[in-house]
Amino acid sequence: MARYTGPVCRLCRREKMKLFLKGPKCDSMKCPIERRPYPPGEHGRDRPRESEYQIQLREKQKARRIYGLLEKQFRNLYEEANRTHGITGENLLRMLELRLDNVTYRAGWGASRSQARQLVRHGHVQVNGKRVTIPSYRLRKGDIVSLKEKSRSMIVIRHNVDTIDRQVPPWLEGAQEGFEVTVRDLPLREHIDVPVREQLIVELYSK
Ligand code: SF4
Repeated sequence: MARYTGPVCRLCRREKMKLFLKGPKCDSMKCPIERRPYPPGEHGRDRPRESEYQIQLREKQKARRIYGLLEKQFRNLYEEANRTHGITGENLLRMLELRLDNVTYRAGWGASRSQARQLVRHGHVQVNGKRVTIPSYRLRKGDIVSLKEKSRSMIVIRHNVDTIDRQVPPWLEGAQEGFEVTVRDLPLREHIDVPVREQLIVELYSK
């Protein structure tokens, strides 16, 4: 599946904020946002005031980059959110949160969403006892996500589980010493802590 392979920190700098795409480096002084908190490029520091369209575009790009989706996948998800009953922006965020790679990240098994995606791709994650290797797999209420028995002793997973201080959101319930989570409920907007104004994304796409 296609994915972004360019410089990751550049994405944060373009959004002028930390998007936490790299794991431990994001919390250290090595994070480029600490030293260069302005957009990349020769004219990064002296960009003119942003138009309404640019503000909406940046909000969409930010959400897309946080969850690691390419434009087409993101657009398709938006179309589905728009067809679904309820508030489109909230539907969109809920669908993003319920992706298997995101839940793997929320559970604290991956240091970043991209690492969580790799764990799913490599078959370390199970849903209701069955191996699922599709990062975009959408979880439903009541689904149990767990790490494969054999994978629990992997150094990278042990290290993440022991060192990552990430609270499991209220719509997930942890069990089995942190190696299993259950989707207790569908996530509500107030439980999704991403710094995105979803209404601007809806405005952008509905032009
Ligand atoms: Fe973003 Fe993390 Fe890179 Fe900092 S270290 S710029 S937060 S990806």
